[in-house]
Amino acid sequence: MHPMRKYKPVELLLKDVPTEFAEEQAVCPNCLDREAGVIGRLGLRLVFKCQRCRVRFHRPTQMAGIV
Ligand SMILES: [Zn+2]
Repeated sequence: MHPMRKYKPVELLLKDVPTEFAEEQAVCPNCLDREAGVIGRLGLRLVFKCQRCRVRFHRPTQMAGIV
């Protein structure tokens, strides 16, 4: 038996989001749902997850200087 190769889920790489950005919502590029919420950040990008189709996507922000 070969050990299963496990990929790190993206969630583990995500950092906490500054409160100013925690309530941000974005339009899902896949299904155009407008209520995709923030699940974390990668560097200066906010990472969103669509509740409807579960697609993850990110957006650049102006958080330089905050984090
Ligand atoms: Zn979606």
